[in-house]
Amino acid sequence: MTIRLLPSTTVNRIAAGEVVERPASAIKELVENSIDAGAKRIDVIIRDGGRTFISVTDDGCGMSPEELTLAVERHATSKLPDDDLENIHTLGFRGEALPSIGSVSRMSITSRVHDADSAWLVAIEGGEKSEPSPAALSQGTTIEVRDLFYATPARLKFLKTPKTENSHALDAIKRLAMAHPDIAFTVGDGSRTMLKLPQAQGDMLSARLDRLDAIMGNEFAANALAIDAEREGLHLSGHIGLPTLSRGNAALQFLFVNGRPVKDKLLFGAARGAYRDFLAHDRHPLLALFLDIPTESLDVNVHPAKTEVRFQDAGLVRGLIVSALRHALAEAGHRASTTVSNQALGALRPETAVPQSYQGNYGSNQNRPVMPSAGLQETAREFHAPLSNLDTALSVNALAEDQIQEVSDDWPLGVARAQLHETYIVAQTDNGIVIVDQHAAHERLVYEEMKKALAEDGIKRQGLLIPEVIEMDEGAADRIVARSDELAELGLVIEAFGPGAIVVRETPAMLGEIDIHGLINDLADDLAENEEALSLKERLADVSATMACHGSVRAGRRLNGDEMNALLRQMEVTPHSGQCNHGRPTYVELKLADIEKLFGRR
Ligand code: ADP
Ligand code: MG
Repeated sequence: MTIRLLPSTTVNRIAAGEVVERPASAIKELVENSIDAGAKRIDVIIRDGGRTFISVTDDGCGMSPEELTLAVERHATSKLPDDDLENIHTLGFRGEALPSIGSVSRMSITSRVHDADSAWLVAIEGGEKSEPSPAALSQGTTIEVRDLFYATPARLKFLKTPKTENSHALDAIKRLAMAHPDIAFTVGDGSRTMLKLPQAQGDMLSARLDRLDAIMGNEFAANALAIDAEREGLHLSGHIGLPTLSRGNAALQFLFVNGRPVKDKLLFGAARGAYRDFLAHDRHPLLALFLDIPTESLDVNVHPAKTEVRFQDAGLVRGLIVSALRHALAEAGHRASTTVSNQALGALRPETAVPQSYQGNYGSNQNRPVMPSAGLQETAREFHAPLSNLDTALSVNALAEDQIQEVSDDWPLGVARAQLHETYIVAQTDNGIVIVDQHAAHERLVYEEMKKALAEDGIKRQGLLIPEVIEMDEGAADRIVARSDELAELGLVIEAFGPGAIVVRETPAMLGEIDIHGLINDLADDLAENEEALSLKERLADVSATMACHGSVRAGRRLNGDEMNALLRQMEVTPHSGQCNHGRPTYVELKLADIEKLFGRR
């Protein structure tokens, strides 16, 4: 056995194994270098998914011939002037990317420092480096990489199709571009442009929203809530989507830490926590969050690819994200995303059939977020359905002229005009129509009210004049009685009443007059299904939904004008009332302008 130091080309190829996993990672490293060089414009060309050709051109600070020679040496960097790993402000710092890429490809770097007489070129092929020679370039740096991985055939075999590699590359560039709206980007294959992002104008926040709009789609920008929160020297900003604009996966959740795109489970967990009340567990919100954190509280030196970080205090970061998101969602009040009304209009438009499923309907178009619209589709289908029984006329409950209130700017959900099918409240605003699903809305209001009451002074109860005795099978009665303390906290006071019966003495006041038998039976069923330890408070969304079902505003109950308007006003002041407990919308707003378009009036 002979121990020996490996030659530098082998060392670089070993490093390349980690730094350059695939063409997208080489492109990411090169673009990061351009950003670190202060570029205001970065142009990328990718052929065959980056396998045969990559070029990255920038207008940054450039390199002198001496710097060029050094730049391709291992561990040569201009970014750690004080050797201080605690204090990193650049994307790069390891001095590994260029030598790694150069050891597995044919690379050339042409560069010119500001006001130098000429540009210089250094070529490196499979790790063999040339002397700098004069070249032509007006400013900045161009790096060309040909035949990536030709020197490491094993890696070459693992590459996916050019199309897949290309989309990884685009993703990597987009992530960097989101964090740097002041830089213009183009990506093409030499003949076709794949991405073109002009330099975003205005202050940081509006420039950033512009850039997010261009990358995540304008539905995101139109339905985003701004985040701005600070805690113990950490600053969190960015934008998050309304719950009604969600997706089936977390692909559109982005976290940037000190301008660096990072992949961190912490973000996904925090997002799930913050949105838990508003989304079914298989739906994911859209987010782009930017965390600024003192460099000494952060370790970016975790992995050669630099996409992971460690936080000194992960709990603090998580807490900041969850509370900032919750706060923003609460402020959003009754707002539901514009996609809700757009999709309703799409469904109503006679010439366009209702898509079977909105989910995944946009194919590979990553930029089109979709919402869970099962409820909405049903609504739409009902609108579409021919009136099957002529009795339907009976279920129109139109308010008389003298019952209709005056439309006011203070009431974004308008004034009630009618109730249809004992389920939908139709209200008029000064420039549109609002249709409320009274059941879904009421369910949400009950939930929010219970949450609030539990947090404050408890849920108010109202005593029954005559306590109600309910008979049920013994097992069910026992299950209910076993939870009587918890139920009392939620406003429902019950006691055992011999075997197989309970007596109800008080009910939650907020529910008004309720169908007690139905409620108790349903609660007993709920408890049977979820016998394990989950407390009723943890299942508040379900419990309140069950309670709301038996309250006075359930679907199928006729409301008078005052009740309808009371529901609208309550929705306006209740946080999160734009969606039901599962993220479906509780109302749809149709603007007159859109309705006019529907009828070809515009
Ligand atoms: P790191 O980015 O970690 O410093 P790299 O191997 O990526 O390591 O780059 C080495 C050095 O080359 C950088 O520190 C920088 O000084 C120089 N460099 C690389 N790309 C550029 C560029 N596009 N413009 C100016 N300088 C660059
Ligand atoms: Mg670098």
